Order: sequence, then structure tokens, then C-alpha cells
Amino acid sequence: MGGKTETYEETLAHVNANSRPGDLKITDMRFAQLEGAPYPCILMKLYTNQGITGFGEVRDMASKTYALILKGRLLGENPCNIDMLFRRIKQFGGQGRQGGGVSAVEIALWDIAGKAYGIPVYQMLGGKFRDKMRIYCDTDVDITEDRSAGQAMGEALKKRLEKGYTILKMDLGINLLMDIPGALCAPLGVLERQRELARRSRKLYPTPWEPNAAEERLKVRNTKDIDKLMEIFKARNDSMYFMPKHPFTGIQITDKGLDYLEAYVHEVRGVIGYEVPLALDHFGHIGADEIIKLAGRLEKYNIAWMEDPISVQYPEQWRKLTSSTSIPICTGENIYLAENFEPLLNVGGITVAHPDPLTAGGIFETKKIGDLAERYGVNMALHQAASPIHAMAAAHIGVATQNCWACEFHANDVPWWDDIVLHKMNKPLVNNGFIDVPDLPGLGIEELNDDVIAEHASSWDPELWAPTDEWNFEFASDGF
Ligand SMILES: [Mg+2]
Repeated sequence: MGGKTETYEETLAHVNANSRPGDLKITDMRFAQLEGAPYPCILMKLYTNQGITGFGEVRDMASKTYALILKGRLLGENPCNIDMLFRRIKQFGGQGRQGGGVSAVEIALWDIAGKAYGIPVYQMLGGKFRDKMRIYCDTDVDITEDRSAGQAMGEALKKRLEKGYTILKMDLGINLLMDIPGALCAPLGVLERQRELARRSRKLYPTPWEPNAAEERLKVRNTKDIDKLMEIFKARNDSMYFMPKHPFTGIQITDKGLDYLEAYVHEVRGVIGYEVPLALDHFGHIGADEIIKLAGRLEKYNIAWMEDPISVQYPEQWRKLTSSTSIPICTGENIYLAENFEPLLNVGGITVAHPDPLTAGGIFETKKIGDLAERYGVNMALHQAASPIHAMAAAHIGVATQNCWACEFHANDVPWWDDIVLHKMNKPLVNNGFIDVPDLPGLGIEELNDDVIAEHASSWDPELWAPTDEWNFEFASDGF
């Protein structure tokens, strides 16, 4: 051997000069909310006593409250003890948006640990299977009179191909059939009632991507009329909870409806060709039998996967689906924790696991979902519909997980999306259909760009990084 023994100080010379990881403590948690990316995003900073700040993100369109209830359970703890803290807080997460708080914290902890030790997240996960993450892109379309809807979608998807994307996805569901007489069969009045509730909710409080939404939402925020606010929130709840889960709506697609959807996909394939994978999403609330009928019409169009076709709660129905079609079946963006993927995997109910790291429980849990799926011979694709914080977290997971073949991106048409963060990575982050995962500490993001965030701040909650001291001492005897 030989050479002198390194001192403790010398050993730590490679870590962040500001940091003594062993003495790190979490000191604060704050948020900035923005709209139009294209969905509302809830950005989080987790502060420490050594000047290192971790970036996290609550699930798109969720509530920062899901993270705030965790704050008093984290203050004073060493953020590098990621798994211990995750196990402490995981009982406060749930399916869907309710997984957003735990996931945001978990991602911020990885970012802090990476910055403290000077290591990228992917390296802490065990290293890379690939240098860059394949990105696929959702696609919306403008319907005009001079061409069919399928033709228009085909042309929109072709533009994605020209930008370098190598997997495509589009919606194909009963929404396309709502205005075609005789295309759907349902208990009379149900569809009309659903449409009326949605219209009423949007009128009272438009979704952020609708015209004049910011102005209208600001008016709502500033109203002092409690009765009016109650009416608006009731309308939103009515609209959200009116439609029961897929097996219970009684909606069926008629032969005419199936003809329309098949012709739509035929036209799309006519434009984009047959060589690029094409995934389908947003079928609407219809039961497994309807999906089987539809899948039978679509098999010849080489569908990459059918996404979230039925409710996740019924594994046997998923098994019936996978055994009734050769089209890969995919779900998971609203599933919290690896253990909740197991019932679907156990029965052979999915071909593609599709977790959203902002719901699944964060970085390590999503990696575990990928590894679990691999044991069943199931591929993983990642759902991602939020800011570059989420995109980079997903990219680190993706390159470090063997069976992760693609990650979603919803902001291809949002020109300022890249500018939400400041970094030394490639620009744009999504380049030619891929994200390069850098050898930079943590997620690779240096700072958040408050100018851009302020410009697109949430009309409901426009203040950036406001104190959250009222949550410091939130406590319950929740250990068990
Ligand atoms: Mg989806």
C-alpha cells in the first residue's frame, strides 16, 4: 500500500464545499405554483442548514397540502436518510394525486443527497443502462372542416416525428363519439347530464388551459362572496365525481361507433405509416367488454399499448383484457407504491407498467416498480406531465432501470417550459426525442427561474416561496 492515510477532511474534499452530509438538517419547505405548463405545477424547495436546497414537485393538478402535512415530520432530520424518511411519511400518501406530497419530498431528498455528495441521482440508483432517456409525446389536434379528424391527428403526429420523437401517443375514446348520433348506447340522459355538469363547472371556474382562464380564475380567487365560492366548488365536485368507475356506467360503443374509431386509426396510420409505435389513451369510462370489442377492431394497426382502459381496482378484469387481445395493456399513472402494482402483475393484467414518479412515491419507489415489473416480463414507461423537475427525476430513474423504455412529455408546445429551471444541461432538455442525463449532482438542476415562474404563477396561489411556518408543528400520534 503506501502513501499517507487521508484525513477525514481530505476524504470529504470531493463533496460539496458547503456541505458536511452527516450534519445536514432539513430546515424548511416552500412552494411555488404555476399554470400553463400545460397543467398546473406545484414546485417544492426543501431547505437545509448548509445552503443546499432540494427540488421536488407535487403531482400536477394536486394540492400542496399533501406535502405540507409532512413538514413537521421532517424538520431537523438529515435529508440523506432518504429511505428512513420515506418509510416515515409513506402512510400519508395515497392513490392518484394523494401520492403527490410523499413523492415530492422523496425527490427533493435525492436531489439534496446528490448535491451534498456531488453525485448524480442515476449513479446513486446503481448507474446507467443507457445514456439518454427516450421521450414520447402526447398530441392534441385542431379539428378543422377541410379534413377528417383522423387525417388531422395523423398530420399532428407527423409533426412529432419530424421533431425527432420515436414513439407516438394519441387519445382515442368515447369523447370522439359524443356528438355522433347512434355511436354510443347508454342509459338515456346519462351522457347529457355528464356534459352539462362539465360545462357548468368550466363556466364557473375554467380549467387553466382554456381561453381567458387566468382572468376568470383570478376573479374567483378574489371574490369575498362565500356563497359564490361554495357554488363553484360544488360544481367542480359534481363534475368530478358524477361519473362512476368504468364497470358501472353502462356505456357501450355501437357498431357505428366502432366503425368511426377504426376509420380514425386507419387514417392516422395512413399518414404516419406503420413503422413507429402508436399508443392510445383516454378511452373514457367504459367497461372491459367494450375495450375488448374496440381492441378487436384495432389489432391490425400495431398499437403500442392501450393505456388506462379500465379502472385499476379490478385485477381480474385486467386479466380478462390481456387474455382477450394481442394489444399490450398499460396502466399505473395513478398507482401509489410498488406494492399496489403487484395485484395487476400477479394476474398477468398488464403488459406495460406506467407509474408517474410524482404519484408512485418518488424516485426509489418508481425504480422498484420497474424492477418488480421486470420479474414478470413487463415493460415500464413513465408518466410525466409536469415541470423539468419531474422530467429530470423521471430521466434519472429511466436510465437507471433496465426495462424502462420511454418517458412521457406533455409540454412540447409550451415554449417557456425549459426556462422554468436554470442548469448546465443540454438545451432544450428534450432534444430530438431524448433527454440526456448529465453527470451533474442530484437532478442536475442548479436553480429555479423565479422570473419565469412568477410570469406564469398560479392565479389561485400566486405568491412564490411563501413561508409555511404554520405547518412546522403539525403532529399526530400516527406511529403504529
Ligand atoms: Mg394517460
